[in-house]
Amino acid sequence: MTTYTPMMQQYLMIKEDYKDAFLFFRLGDFYELFFEDAERASQLLEITLTSRDGGSKGRIPMCGVPHHSAKNYIETLVSKGYKVAICEQTEDPKVAKGVVRREVVQLITPGTITEGKTIDGKTNHFIGAAEYVAEQQIAFVILDISTGEATATIIEGDIKTLFQQLQSYAIRELIVGEAMHLEAAEMAQALNIVLSIEHDEMQQTQQFTSDLPPNVQPIASRLLRYIERTQMRSLSHIQPFRFTEMNHYLSIDANSKRNLELMQSIRGGDQKGTLLWLLDETVTAMGGRKLKQWLHQPLVQRTKIEQRLTIVEHLLEDFFVREELRERLKQVYDLERLAGRVAFGNVGGRDLAQLRESLRQVPAIREQLLASKSEPLRQLGEAFDICEEVEQLLAVAITDHPPITIKEGDVIRDGYHDKLDELRYAARNGKDWIAQLEQKERELTGIKNLKIGYNRIFGYYIEITKSNFGNVDLTRYERKQTLANAERYITQELKEKEALILNAEEQSLALEYDLFVALREELKAYIPRVQALASEISELDVFISFASISEKYHFTRPIFHDGRDLTIKEGRHPVVEKMLNKQLYVPNDCILPSDRNMMLITGPNMSGKSTYMRQVAITVILAQMGCYVPAKEASLPITDQIFTRIGAADDLAAGQSTFMVEMLESQYAITHATKNSLLLFDEIGRGTSTYDGMSLAQAMMEYIHQEIGANTLFSTHYHELTELEHDLARLQNVHVSATERDGKVVFLHKVKTGAADKSYGVHVAELAEMPEPIIERARVLLTQFEAQEAVKPVQEKSSIVAEQLSLFTDQPSLSKEEQEVLEVLQKANIMGTTPLQAMTLLHELQQKL
Ligand code: ADP
Repeated sequence: MTTYTPMMQQYLMIKEDYKDAFLFFRLGDFYELFFEDAERASQLLEITLTSRDGGSKGRIPMCGVPHHSAKNYIETLVSKGYKVAICEQTEDPKVAKGVVRREVVQLITPGTITEGKTIDGKTNHFIGAAEYVAEQQIAFVILDISTGEATATIIEGDIKTLFQQLQSYAIRELIVGEAMHLEAAEMAQALNIVLSIEHDEMQQTQQFTSDLPPNVQPIASRLLRYIERTQMRSLSHIQPFRFTEMNHYLSIDANSKRNLELMQSIRGGDQKGTLLWLLDETVTAMGGRKLKQWLHQPLVQRTKIEQRLTIVEHLLEDFFVREELRERLKQVYDLERLAGRVAFGNVGGRDLAQLRESLRQVPAIREQLLASKSEPLRQLGEAFDICEEVEQLLAVAITDHPPITIKEGDVIRDGYHDKLDELRYAARNGKDWIAQLEQKERELTGIKNLKIGYNRIFGYYIEITKSNFGNVDLTRYERKQTLANAERYITQELKEKEALILNAEEQSLALEYDLFVALREELKAYIPRVQALASEISELDVFISFASISEKYHFTRPIFHDGRDLTIKEGRHPVVEKMLNKQLYVPNDCILPSDRNMMLITGPNMSGKSTYMRQVAITVILAQMGCYVPAKEASLPITDQIFTRIGAADDLAAGQSTFMVEMLESQYAITHATKNSLLLFDEIGRGTSTYDGMSLAQAMMEYIHQEIGANTLFSTHYHELTELEHDLARLQNVHVSATERDGKVVFLHKVKTGAADKSYGVHVAELAEMPEPIIERARVLLTQFEAQEAVKPVQEKSSIVAEQLSLFTDQPSLSKEEQEVLEVLQKANIMGTTPLQAMTLLHELQQKL
């Protein structure tokens, strides 16, 4: 090591502590990377790899990025799942003896990055930590560093369940102990989630974790420690962890969220076509995030759901109040993230002006709610803390239109601070003052051409031409410079003013900065109140959004009851409906009485089976979020969990076959569902051979019927399964109707009772403009298969039919005795026979054989 240059030695020492990160090493105006870091970063960032003399060890691979554009590069690396350690020069190179001191000032990781393109205002950016607390129990804590929100829960399940949760919160980084690291490594890699190990120390973080169960506290502390260690900046906006019982929310696993296209469309890409896309008419970033949280976690407590619904109802009734509130909300900036920046100490002048403008909207919002005729809205208003002190503080301190940076001045308002006013006065009025002094000195000396000038070397001076030397008062004037025909002087007064004028600008900027920092510190005390206000505002925003879409799309208020019956009349799939081009959406009922709560849906492809199933799930989710539902009438039980196995989400990317995905999702549903759950199975068994698939589908239905009892919708193209209606008491057959017109299929999308009677596959193929010879051939084959089907059940029917058939065959398969026995049996009058006579008869018949 001694053979490296001193700077490289310093580099290597620092790098030792940040082995798992790219070390951005500040060198003048650049961040440089060395060795392997340089080689990998040059590829990942597509920048040139060079080298540098490292001492007697020869040249060292190096690449670098200018510090002013480093942000983008850092973001690129972090978004690819890497960590970046920022190492700054922490002493002035001018005064440094030897190598400039350098320290890592922040470790930026996928879970802790708070700014950049990847951070979308309307999305929370969580980092998580997890650890087993018992067998099949994992403590799981999450935190959004930009907003300070922190929650914890206990997950019932294993590492797979944990990863389901990680995915549904789009978590990019998970903090674990060593044991879990081993177990989770592979899955984390497949899902591009960074695992970071944080070693345990006994240090507690009581003020943040006291609301958590004792066994969850260490995991929360571990996460906080990691954040503290990596961020190295004030995190005073972090809120105490809230504990939520998993079973306080309607649980929807990540697969189902995807299948139902709640927030992501199955095809990926943008949000168009998702439920969120339809629902999100929020006007604040906070509202957008709150809506996502509610969509992630619909409620299960009836009273809470009803409270939300009631607020929506009242907002729905008053269009004008709603629109006025919305106009006000539009002017409210992201209070949570502003509060976060106050805490980080990276809040700028413009941020504070935004905070002030936002707070100015709040009293009017509150008044509006308080003036409402509706009690729930008044209560909502009463909960608002308008944070008056903060607004007042900012009103006197911050200018109307401050610039983004805080080092250019114009941030602090005139009149806020006497010294600053004086400095600014001096700077702004320096020229006036000089002009006045010139006038004054002319009068005092009687020299008419006396003038005051300025140059960089001597500063301000009074210039007197040769002919006037005699009039100079040398007790006051001090000679500075002699020119060919003039002398330049300064006076005590000019010297003092000069210092003031020259430094005024610089000093005022410095003072302004100090005042700004002091103000920022003062504001920290108000962070929790601003956060509470942010939460109230975001909820109001979501409620208004609910009311507005409920009106626009003709939703109705769902009614909840304590039983299990589920009744939806004229339900619709709101997203499919919105996407339909000109056509009308066909509404459908879904009636699941508790004694007939399994539905087998048959019907041709493309008839609307999966749309129908999804609309039921979406109705349940919307209702439990506290939103109105797309139906004429909905009377619902409280559902605890929703599971879906719906096609099209073929998870080939993960390297699993479609059928395996199907089985995994089904397994997850069946092992986790309770009788209070809602299960949706679309075309189970489609991914394997017919008999295989059909047997599995039937076995699953029987199991759900016997063992789980959940409200279940099952769609299938195995027509044979409709026979199950006879055996499974709670099963009802329905079909989605289609009709033929001129030999072509016309989908009616109408769900009707009973099983579908015919397959329309060939017609669908025709619609798809399959070549004519194929269609023709398929028609012929279909007729043949149908004819065979007609024979099959007969062979399996009762022995009497079999016997009748055998009478027509050339080779009678029954012996003479057997024929006799059958004849006796056929003639026997069973209704007129006592049990004893029956026994005797049986005995006689047995003797004959
Ligand atoms: P399946 O699951 O039976 O193959 P889908 O549910 O995927 O069929 O529906 C196919 C298409 O039919 C949908 O994309 C939609 O455009 C249309 N559709 C489905 N249900 C309805 C409905 N109730 N009203 C109008 N169009 C519908």
